Amino acid sequence: MTDSKAFEAALDEISGITVRYNELLSKHTTFQIGGAADYYIETLTAEAMQAVLACAQKYSVRTKVIGRGSNLLFADAGYRGAVISTSAMKQITVSGAEITAEAGASLTALAKAALEASLTGLEFANGIPGSVGGAVFMNAGAYDGEISQVLLRSTYYDAEKREFCTLDADAHEFAYRNSIYRAHPEWTVVSATFSLRNGDHTVIRARMEELMARRADKQPLEYPSAGSAFKRYPGRYTAQMIDEAGLKGKQIGCAQISEKHAGFIINRDGATAEDVLALIDCVRNEIRRLYGIEIEPEIVYVPENG
Ligand SMILES: Cc1cc2nc3c(=O)[nH]c(=O)nc-3n(C[C@H](O)[C@H](O)[C@H](O)COP(=O)(O)OP(=O)(O)OC[C@H]3O[C@@H](n4cnc5c(N)ncnc54)[C@H](O)[C@@H]3O)c2cc1C
Repeated sequence: MTDSKAFEAALDEISGITVRYNELLSKHTTFQIGGAADYYIETLTAEAMQAVLACAQKYSVRTKVIGRGSNLLFADAGYRGAVISTSAMKQITVSGAEITAEAGASLTALAKAALEASLTGLEFANGIPGSVGGAVFMNAGAYDGEISQVLLRSTYYDAEKREFCTLDADAHEFAYRNSIYRAHPEWTVVSATFSLRNGDHTVIRARMEELMARRADKQPLEYPSAGSAFKRYPGRYTAQMIDEAGLKGKQIGCAQISEKHAGFIINRDGATAEDVLALIDCVRNEIRRLYGIEIEPEIVYVPENG
C-alpha cells in the first residue's frame, strides 16, 4: 500500500530535485491537457532520478517518467502517483564526431549543438519538440531521418535491478516509432550518445532551416497538440485517408482534426482528454468503416491509475 507521508519525508532528503504537489499536467504537456499529478518532480541528475525512483518503489508510489510532454495525453483526472520529468537534465557535450546528451536535452538544442560543431546527421531533429530520452524511447524521426540512424548507445537506469546499464545501438530493437524501451517501463533513459559525420556548416544550417520552414508550412504549430495523432499505416498516408474521409475540421468538444494537417488533433482552447479520446475513436471507426483497416494512435495516453 502507498505510504504517502513516508514518501514525502524521504523526498525531503534527496538533493538535486524540485517537488511540486498537485501540479497540473496541462502546464507540462504540449497539448496543454491533463489534470493534477499528486507529485511532479524534476530531477537535476541521473543520481537524483535513481534516488527518486528507488524511493517511489520503496513506498509503492506509481511513477511516470516524462521528457518534454510532447507526445502525451494525460487524463483529465490527472495522475495518481509521481510524474518525474527529465527536463532539467539537459547537458550536451561534443567530443570529435560524437555528441552525448542528457535525457532531458531538447532535440532542437541537440541539432543546434551538432550544427555548431559542423556535424551532420541530426538536421531532421531540429523542430521536433521532444527530449532526447523521449526520442530514443519512440525512435523519433522526420523527413527521412530517425534516431536509429545516428544513435551509438544509450544509458538507462533499471529500476528493477537498481543499476545503470548501457545499451548499444543494435540492441535497441528499433522499428517505426518504436524501441525496446517501450517494452521496459522500468528502464529510464538518462543519456544518449550519437555518432555523426563532419559536414559543412552552411549546408547543415540550410537543411535545418528548410525542414523548419516545411514544418511551419504544413503543421498547425499555432495550436497546442501532441504531434501526429496516428501512426503511419504501412503503404498508406494516414493523414490523407483522414482527409479523404471528410474528417478535416471535425470537432468534438474543443478537440479538432486540424484543417491545416489532417494528421494532427489540436486543442482549440480548453479541450479535455475525453474530447481527444472521443475524436480518436471517431476517426478510427470511420477509417475502419471506409477502408477496413485499423489505425493506431501515436499519442501516448496516460490514464489516472494506469
Ligand atoms: C508540433 C509537434 C511536432 C512533432 N513532430 C514530430 C516529428 O516530426 N517526429 C516525431 O517522431 N515526433 C514528433 N512529435 C512528437 C514528439 O515530439 C516526439 O514523440 C518526441 O520524441 C517525444 O519526446 P518527449 O520528451 O516529449 O516525450 P514525452 O511526451 O514526455 O514522453 C513520451 C513517452 O516517452 C517516454 N519517455 C520520455 N522520456 C523518457 C526517458 N528518459 N526514459 C524512458 N522513457 C521516456 C514517456 O514515459 C512516454 O511514454 C511532434 C510533436 C509535436 C507537438
